[in-house]
Amino acid sequence: MSRSQTHLGDMNLKDFRKYGYRAIDWIANYLANPDKYPVLAQVKPGQIREALPKSPPENPETMDSILKDLDQIIVPGITHWNHPAFFAYFSLTGSVPGILGELLSAAFNVNAMLWKTSPAATELEQVVLDWLRQMLGLPADFQGIIYDTASISSLHAMTAAREALADLKVREEGLAGRSEIPRLRLYTSEQAHSSIEKGAILIGIGQRGVRKIPVDNEFRMDPAALRHAIEEDTRSGWRPFCVAATVGTTSTTSIDPVPEIAEICKEKGLWLHVDAAYGGAAAILPEMRHVLDGCERADSIVVNPHKWLFTPIDASAFYCRRPDTLRRAFSLVPEYLRTSEGETVRNYMDYGIQLGRRFRALKLWMIFRYFGHKGLAARIREHIGLARQFTSWIDDDPDFERLAPAPFSTVCFRARPKDLADLLEKSPKAADEIERYLNSLNEALLEAVNATGLAYLSHTRLRDRFVIRLAIGNIRTTESYVSRAWKLLRDHARRLDKEFRPSALRVHEDG
Ligand SMILES: *Cc1c(COP(=O)(O)O)cnc(C)c1O
Repeated sequence: MSRSQTHLGDMNLKDFRKYGYRAIDWIANYLANPDKYPVLAQVKPGQIREALPKSPPENPETMDSILKDLDQIIVPGITHWNHPAFFAYFSLTGSVPGILGELLSAAFNVNAMLWKTSPAATELEQVVLDWLRQMLGLPADFQGIIYDTASISSLHAMTAAREALADLKVREEGLAGRSEIPRLRLYTSEQAHSSIEKGAILIGIGQRGVRKIPVDNEFRMDPAALRHAIEEDTRSGWRPFCVAATVGTTSTTSIDPVPEIAEICKEKGLWLHVDAAYGGAAAILPEMRHVLDGCERADSIVVNPHKWLFTPIDASAFYCRRPDTLRRAFSLVPEYLRTSEGETVRNYMDYGIQLGRRFRALKLWMIFRYFGHKGLAARIREHIGLARQFTSWIDDDPDFERLAPAPFSTVCFRARPKDLADLLEKSPKAADEIERYLNSLNEALLEAVNATGLAYLSHTRLRDRFVIRLAIGNIRTTESYVSRAWKLLRDHARRLDKEFRPSALRVHEDG
């Protein structure tokens, strides 16, 4: 083959336009009604893999055939997070301005590691994070950086907290094999996200370096227990160094008492990190700003725009009031990355583990501008309103019960037929059997509702009870989807209870 016959280089731009427009049309059709698909992918494990070739394509293929397979093979295996009845986990949501931001940042394909490797990427990141800081009502001494996820943000917080123990020289000497230094202890609540414990594993303090503080009856960290734990540990030779509080815990969205925790941290000289990955976004509403009360005293805080600020995954906003400590923990500049701008610019690679960085600020800029603070707030307010509505349906139905307060847009509840509640009151000895039955009833209920493809909810476990969670956060969710989910829950609960209730728990047969 002669050189002139070889097709090198990128796709020709005539084809790019053709398929680019087609892809945009595809997206618009998809987003016009994502509810034509089942929310939860109805495929078996391995089904998608088996539909795909085992070996890589030897020869070029046409974009037509690739897009055809997208529809036929990939889409059936998609769980539709865009579906307005996606109520599982935290129902994170993207938005069209965010999709356009992703498209354009892929086109630029800049690496935002240094200021000079794309000044606009660095400076836009500084600006949009400062906008978000203002919307959240946090003070100006919080400096922001975007990481991919809250897990990584919290890992950076914990590493900075460890670096703040300057006398230990952990950066230089490590932790292993040093009998001259005490073991480090971090505190978080029993309800904290698993990423805190994972971070502890990574920074070398181990799972035993995490002490989980009990919660009150509303699942909030008990500050008296925190204080007691810190003092007890100090007496027995541990070195307390960090508290990770949560605003919006993963199971129930409970809010730790940050003002009291901040006071303890100040008194004991501990780093306070606040994990507000989901709940923080609500603080852009004036009437919800109180959820971040006390956070102005934290050393660091994470809020995920990809959770509840209409940003396509991934984007996690990390704020730190001690950026010099963060930088001391992470800055390590090899010769080939030295630049002459010095302290006049921010080189984001100095503030984190990764060198290469995506241009995530672009999508945030487009989203914040397109919706405005008011538009973002109005959508979150609607989600909170829908969750209140759902909460009132649960509370008013004698055959259901709510199992935690719902301060945001996530509701924890279970089916609990009224006659069983009555039975429990009359014969407390039956409690274990009733609880066992309710657990299996609710597990079956969740599965039955999800199998309809008309709604997708997830679960948690609270005090040994199987709990169904309904989380509202999708930009397309309206009341009709929430009420349809409620009807499904009621209908299936009634049916399953009739079918599966053990005879010993049948109270009165009135039919
Ligand atoms: C979602 C969530 C996380 C994990 O977020 P990632 O960005 O997926 O790592 C951590 N903490 C809380 C409170 C969360 O809601």
